[in-house]
Amino acid sequence: MSSKIRTLQAREILDSRGDPTVEVHIVLENGVRTKASVPSGATTGTYEALELRDGDSKRFKGLGVLKAVQNVNTKLSKLLKGIEATNQEVIDRMMIELDGTPNKSKIGANATLGVSLACARAAALSEGKPLYWYFQDHFHLPVSSFNLPIPMLNIFNGGKHADTNLDIQEIMIAPCGLKEGLSGKSSRSFAEMMRISWDVFRWLGLVLLERGYDTDVGIEGGYAPDIQSTMEALDMIVEAIKKAGYRPGDDISIALDIGAPSIYNPSNKEYVFKLDHSFLNSAALIQLYESWTEKYPILSIEDGLDENDWDGWKKLSKIAAERWSPKPYIVADDLFATNSERMIRGIKEKAANAVIIKPNQVGTVSETIDTIKLAHQNKYAVVMCHRSGETNDDFIADFAVGAGAQFIKAGSINRGERVAKYNRLLEIEEEIK
Ligand code: PGA
Ligand code: ZN
Repeated sequence: MSSKIRTLQAREILDSRGDPTVEVHIVLENGVRTKASVPSGATTGTYEALELRDGDSKRFKGLGVLKAVQNVNTKLSKLLKGIEATNQEVIDRMMIELDGTPNKSKIGANATLGVSLACARAAALSEGKPLYWYFQDHFHLPVSSFNLPIPMLNIFNGGKHADTNLDIQEIMIAPCGLKEGLSGKSSRSFAEMMRISWDVFRWLGLVLLERGYDTDVGIEGGYAPDIQSTMEALDMIVEAIKKAGYRPGDDISIALDIGAPSIYNPSNKEYVFKLDHSFLNSAALIQLYESWTEKYPILSIEDGLDENDWDGWKKLSKIAAERWSPKPYIVADDLFATNSERMIRGIKEKAANAVIIKPNQVGTVSETIDTIKLAHQNKYAVVMCHRSGETNDDFIADFAVGAGAQFIKAGSINRGERVAKYNRLLEIEEEIK
């Protein structure tokens, strides 16, 4: 029986923050039925594809997604009925053409991505393959063997992700030494990496309690107390790593997501660290990062500068290459927005050396894969990434393995929607042994 699409049916469900999002159910003519759901960011970059929200203030304060649901149930299901689910590129191209806008603002990237993810999952089921395997086979990704990604595991939430005074968005640990991390491959099993991360997370909780701080968590599961300074957070993490019995930089490294667009004031081109009472232009901010890399085992700096500060990104990458040893990953999230055109500019301008991959930033699986391929071709490290608003859908776990991502950001070691991804990776590790 063929893998032709029989029905596509979307529904409005709630994400991990309680906000509406899109879930798409798919049925194929061969009887395969499955579903997929769409995540949503809190710090949505300017260059992301549009997430279509209803704007009806009487429902969910305008956040409803009934228009996107309707677009799946009418326009997209009519368009795609009878197309083979295994024809991912064709399906995605047809949706892009029907939408006709550069950022999917007519149909909504939440509608197109829901369909795109559901098709990929149904196609894998049709072929009787696990999703990660299907990806590798079907999209000719340069992945010779399956490797589990190294988690960049959120342990401190800040910025727009928590009600804390920490300005930077995320401090993560990578359960690998700096050298290993920079090679993109860990000698530890994924299960071991999770266990080690658990130790550090628990110890950090104890360190916080010792200092009289609370241990409530933010929307990605990291701790989120009010503290004295940004450096205090980094110091406490180093202390927790040591107390857990590991060596900072040899066993465990630190990954940062500054979320700089959220602290940038475009009118005077300054980055505002309210907690530290500092107002920095990009040169001063780069100097601050330099001082951190001297003191802490920093594996990566994500969104260290604003999404329009191309000169700043170029300077940061240049200075990091010339002066910092070892040179951490300079990770582009909002700068590229998983968009291959923006990434091509970034490659030309030597703006970064690693890329965040968030499928909903671009709105289809095929376009996401184009960006991943560009990353592999240009020796950029690939960081598969969740959004701050998630569901229990674990799609990105399979995607990370199938696409050869060196890293995954899926949040902390708590909250069901975060550990769903890690648990799926534990399962994949057992399967590929
Ligand atoms: P967002 O944050 O989903 O709120 O954009 C996640 C990230 O930037 O990594
Ligand atoms: Zn980010």
